[in-house]
Amino acid sequence: MDLTWTDAEEAFRADARTWLVDHLAEWHDRFDGDIRSGDTRDGFAQHLVWERMLFDDRWAVVSWPEAYGGRDASLWEWLIFEEEYYRSGGPQRVTQNGIFLLAPSIFEFGTEEQQNGILRRMAAGDDLWCQGWSEPNAGSDLASLRSRATKVDGGWRLNGQKTWTTRGAFCTHLFGLFRSDPESERHKGLTYLLVPLDLDGVTVRGFSRLDGDEGFAEVFFEDAFLPDEVAYGSPVLGGVDGGWGVAMATTSSERGLTLRSPGRFMATADRLLELWKERGGPAQLRDRVVDAWLRAEAYRVQTLQTVTNTIEGRPAGAETSLVKLWWSELDVELHELALDLLGEDAELDGPWVKGWQFSLSGPIYAGTNEVQRNIAAERVLGLPRR
Ligand SMILES: Cc1cc2nc3c(=O)[nH]c(=O)nc-3n(C[C@H](O)[C@H](O)[C@H](O)COP(=O)(O)OP(=O)(O)OC[C@H]3O[C@@H](n4cnc5c(N)ncnc54)[C@H](O)[C@@H]3O)c2cc1C
Repeated sequence: MDLTWTDAEEAFRADARTWLVDHLAEWHDRFDGDIRSGDTRDGFAQHLVWERMLFDDRWAVVSWPEAYGGRDASLWEWLIFEEEYYRSGGPQRVTQNGIFLLAPSIFEFGTEEQQNGILRRMAAGDDLWCQGWSEPNAGSDLASLRSRATKVDGGWRLNGQKTWTTRGAFCTHLFGLFRSDPESERHKGLTYLLVPLDLDGVTVRGFSRLDGDEGFAEVFFEDAFLPDEVAYGSPVLGGVDGGWGVAMATTSSERGLTLRSPGRFMATADRLLELWKERGGPAQLRDRVVDAWLRAEAYRVQTLQTVTNTIEGRPAGAETSLVKLWWSELDVELHELALDLLGEDAELDGPWVKGWQFSLSGPIYAGTNEVQRNIAAERVLGLPRR
């Protein structure tokens, strides 16, 4: 494997770096440096301003076609952009559930009308998408979901409840799984629907997370009528009753590549190293810092392998479960180490504490780590189910 970047890739990196440094400063200045969390209503609005700055200069979705606001960049360049993004201290992407989770499935399964109607508006932050999969009694066991889509004249009647919908209270659209065939069971008879949240009969109720931010919502559907024809054509992605296959493609993106690029963890590992240099500590802590930094670097190299495989036509399968274990456990470790280094000063350090609180959710979202271990055991290692 050749781990060097070409001149063109280095030039792309330099462009990205310069743009990010200049524009992040401009964005911070706009709000006098008082940037709130993107999981609060005010902070979300501030982050949308940032998203539109990215979009205007075609940095929002670099690997997408130009027609949708991208640069037709290669996956390598996307990785480079991500490295520079997190290195420069770029903020959380409040459009992430759309651009990183839904979009890959729209590219794969969407009709031309859906692609044209959805992607550019998503990249520009005009339409804001949230993920409506989990329900009060269907999380890990997603196939037991009970929200229903009933076919009626000219559309669908939606009933049921979704929960843990990230930033749902601030979004305009939801991509969700609904049971469309009441006679079917489990993975069969589910339909993947693209739902505008302003339909009559849809209620979105925000609620707070552990850290107090209103980052979650419950979404209630009470006989909501979803027409067969919406602004982007059909609201059905991938065929009636064919939702499970589309959903599994989405989870592959979520766990494997698009949601958590290594740039994010390398930047945290580098900040941890700086903290170590500033504060020092016992040898045992030093060894843990080195070990965590190496695991972040190893994750980066492993991702280069994943990208190579993807480009050569070998998309990731069940092994994305191992990738998910890797990044989520690494993130907890990096933040725990920072808190150990800070000692009692940790209480005063907002960013590390906030980062640590969020890292604790990594082993839960995108499929819990216990379930990922089951998948890895059965489908990667070939161990028996019992
Ligand atoms: C920060 C965050 C953001 C999220 N955002 C979204 C979102 O935008 N949209 C959305 O739809 N959902 C979202 N979720 C929900 C997430 O997908 C679920 O929390 C997750 O799937 C687990 O489901 P659950 O919470 O119902 O837990 P349960 O499935 O009830 O699991 C409870 C415990 O039992 C364990 N367990 C369950 N089944 C097994 C098994 N077969 N073997 C071993 N152990 C098992 C689990 O690992 C867990 O420890 C988010 C969650 C978090 C934390």
